[in-house]
Amino acid sequence: MEEKGAEKGVAAMAACYQGFDPAAYLQYNYTPPRADFERKDSIVPWKLACLHRAFTEGDVSGELLVDIGSGPTLYQVLSGCEVFNKVLLTDFLEVNRQELRGWLQDEGGCSLDWTPYLQHVCKLEGRRPSAWTEKAAKLRQVIMDIVPIDVHCPQPLALDILPSAGADCLVSCFCLESVSPDLAAFIRALGHIGRLLRPGGHLLLIGALGESYYFGGPGVKIPVVPLNEAQVCASLKESGYTLIRLEVYTLPQDMRVGVDDVSGVFL
Ligand code: SAM
Repeated sequence: MEEKGAEKGVAAMAACYQGFDPAAYLQYNYTPPRADFERKDSIVPWKLACLHRAFTEGDVSGELLVDIGSGPTLYQVLSGCEVFNKVLLTDFLEVNRQELRGWLQDEGGCSLDWTPYLQHVCKLEGRRPSAWTEKAAKLRQVIMDIVPIDVHCPQPLALDILPSAGADCLVSCFCLESVSPDLAAFIRALGHIGRLLRPGGHLLLIGALGESYYFGGPGVKIPVVPLNEAQVCASLKESGYTLIRLEVYTLPQDMRVGVDDVSGVFL
């Protein structure tokens, strides 16, 4: 009975995602005020700075980086693409994989211009902003593929996608809590993606705190598992991870723009 309930919850989430609109989602979350590069307290610069630190300080390194639930976005691999020789992007929805392929093929028609993002990360790396074209070329060179994923499957990726040893590092942003019907499913999904990782590999997990819904497009209200810091730490432990570092961001009032009810972000 319990298993049937869990399956129903997952199927209901999948149904919500059928209305997801990549262009609208990018507009809601990846333009000012949330992506204001003049402001240090804007959410996107905060995420980029965290990712920059995570990929440059400490011992996050190796051959293969896998991004879990990429959506239509690239910001999450702009630092990692300098450290890893191969980057694999993944998403549940073909519309999102299509959006990413559009950027990869560089034939125009992308819903968002990633140039300010590339320039900002170049600045974080101590390079001149005009180096953004080199970074874009590097990213296009290291992205090995864009493939389907389902974090609710014990085997989230097709069998032959990863080397048998697993990935060296996973990055995942705003995915698990916004695709899970409840905390138990979130914890199970954490366990599933952990199987993609080699022993001793790293997970860089960014997610929403205190969020109960977000809009994936006009009128497309998607439920989210509201998490607090203690639940994030306990869920990681329960799924077999060792927590190395936790960073938390609180959303300023003017960043609460009506596209969700998020109150903070964790990495
Ligand atoms: N990572 C992006 C970001 O940081 O903005 C997108 C996050 S978006 C809130 C959640 C993403 O999870 C969507 O791209 C959606 O297609 C994807 N998704 C939905 N169901 C999923 C599932 N069962 N497994 C993996 N990803 C899923």
